[in-house]
Amino acid sequence: MVKGTPSAGKRQKRSHIKCRRCGCHSFSLHAKYCVACGFGKSRRMRKAYGWGKKKA
Ligand SMILES: [Zn+2]
Repeated sequence: MVKGTPSAGKRQKRSHIKCRRCGCHSFSLHAKYCVACGFGKSRRMRKAYGWGKKKA
């Protein structure tokens, strides 16, 4: 047994960084847009859904 969560130390790859618009840690480095607020996508392609939308 180890102290703490064993797999926690393996998390080195970062798929998301902090979004400079909403401040969430949701800006995808892979897709180059924020999954929380949609920053980085085309303006007209912004999500219009009511669900899954955090206050951003
Ligand atoms: Zn964002």
